Amino acid sequence: MITITREIAEEMIRHAKEEYPRECCGMLAGREQTITKVFKTKNIAESEDLYELDPLEQVKAFEEIDRLSLKLLGIYHSHPNHPCYPSGLDRSQAFYPDTVFFIISLLDFDNPQIRAFKMSEGEVVEEEIIVD
Ligand SMILES: [Zn+2]
Repeated sequence: MITITREIAEEMIRHAKEEYPRECCGMLAGREQTITKVFKTKNIAESEDLYELDPLEQVKAFEEIDRLSLKLLGIYHSHPNHPCYPSGLDRSQAFYPDTVFFIISLLDFDNPQIRAFKMSEGEVVEEEIIVD
């Protein structure tokens, strides 16, 4: 179970729509199981079906996360034209086993869907999201 604020959910959806039809991506930080900060990151893959976080922006985000005494809790990306479920590539690219992977699907553009998953070694477990 992971908690995000309404504002952060809206910011992720806005980011997904801004980058449409390409995938967007970013990092989510907070304390315990509550996400309080979003870092929009450039998708250097500039692709409609994959994402790669800009490494320099990742370093900067980690510095800010440290400075604020937060923890990296999540990574998010969008699925512009695919369902809200991790792709095979997402599963193979999930390098942070303690991190929750958020997917924003714009398959139904006017009704975006957000779901969260934990992934390790190819296994996918859905994580319940509480929007507070
Ligand atoms: Zn994906």
